[in-house]
Amino acid sequence: MDFDDTPDQARLRASVRTFLTEHDHELAHGDGAYLEEPGTDRVEALRRTQAVLFDGGLIGLTWPSEYGGGGGTNAQQAVVNEELHRARIAGPIGHVGLGMCGPTVLRHGSEDQKQRYIRRLLRADDLWCQLFSEPGSGSDLAALRTKAVLQDDGWHIQGQKVWTTLAQHSRYGILLCRTNPDAPRHRGLTMFVLDMHAPGVTVRPLRQMNGHQSFNEVFLDDVVIDDSERLGDVDDGWRVALTTLMNERMAVGGGGGEIGIRSDALVAHAAERLPHLDEDRRVLAVQSLGRVLVESLAARYTGYRLQTSLEKGGRPGPEASAGKLTAVRVAHATADLGQRLLGDEAVLARSSEGDWRWATSQASTPGIALAGGADEILRNILGERVLGLAPDRSPATPSKQAESR
Ligand SMILES: Cc1cc2nc3c(=O)[nH]c(=O)nc-3n(C[C@H](O)[C@H](O)[C@H](O)COP(=O)(O)OP(=O)(O)OC[C@H]3O[C@@H](n4cnc5c(N)ncnc54)[C@H](O)[C@@H]3O)c2cc1C
Repeated sequence: MDFDDTPDQARLRASVRTFLTEHDHELAHGDGAYLEEPGTDRVEALRRTQAVLFDGGLIGLTWPSEYGGGGGTNAQQAVVNEELHRARIAGPIGHVGLGMCGPTVLRHGSEDQKQRYIRRLLRADDLWCQLFSEPGSGSDLAALRTKAVLQDDGWHIQGQKVWTTLAQHSRYGILLCRTNPDAPRHRGLTMFVLDMHAPGVTVRPLRQMNGHQSFNEVFLDDVVIDDSERLGDVDDGWRVALTTLMNERMAVGGGGGEIGIRSDALVAHAAERLPHLDEDRRVLAVQSLGRVLVESLAARYTGYRLQTSLEKGGRPGPEASAGKLTAVRVAHATADLGQRLLGDEAVLARSSEGDWRWATSQASTPGIALAGGADEILRNILGERVLGLAPDRSPATPSKQAESR
């Protein structure tokens, strides 16, 4: 990958900078994802931010122009992402729609679905959620039991989903159900678009150890979905789900972006806090800072390598799994070091907004390590695909091996 901007990229960068300066007062800011309680006010501010960015052509840059996207390249998107990051613009609230649901509708939806859903999804007019995991099926997704039965008036859905991020704010979700209990487990599944406001849908937020309620239980009690809201063929939902999972892995760290608190915020925090530490702690902190920054750069360049290969027509490979593993490790090490830099004051940090975010991030990263493919599953994938080790025989691993299909 060439790290210097081409003349076109330099022009794009300059115009994005100008746009972000002019619209700064309309945009929400933040130091990193997963740090804010997604309460209604913040969600609304983030929706407005996404709409402003979309209207300025900065969201959905690579998406097809016939559905509201920019029809641009990954390299252009990378330039835009860097500028959003530099300006400390908060990550998009519609990240589940942008990262997972939208790409799935684009690939498997009907023309009518694409026309109805994609533009509004890009602009955060509608938020989306992903209804895959159930109490008895996470890594082993193909074990899911939520049933869909076709009757005269449509598909009748009965079951329960869990850990559904953003469900309480979402208008739509992509829903994976079992439609043929007699078929082998991966063959009897079908994907639908679910209207989250439909009768029979109950959403109950769950409180996590970081204090937030960002994900939910979703109960589906005889919910009826019209057959026109099916995504892909009946009993072919596994193939559709693999599109979602592959994009999820890419979205959570695969593109080389940082998750959790950003490394530049850590450097600023270190500059402020190091003088307050005794010498032993200071030396250890500086060493840790070096390690975190090097690893963060490695994650970013691995992401760039993946983007470059996609640009040249390649398919996402195990780099996305490696990228997510590394991004989570960096996020955890960043939060951990941020806390240690606070020294004894970390214990009292709740009293200060700025300082409390390190503890919040520390309590959030274990969850991020599970979402979008747990660390162990990703390591299984790397073991098989990169190191050539014997495959994991448990049912779980194939469910998350999106990139190998
Ligand atoms: C913050 C967060 C957001 C989420 N958002 C969503 C969402 O929006 N929609 C959605 O559908 N789901 C969501 N999830 C659920 C997520 O996809 C699951 O948590 C994940 O797939 C793991 O499933 P599980 O929790 O059932 O754990 P399990 O699958 O039961 O795994 C438990 C532990 O066992 C390990 N393990 C399991 N199988 C193997 C194996 N074969 N080899 C080695 N180790 C193994 C796992 O790595 C893990 O450490 C979210 C989860 C979190 C934490």
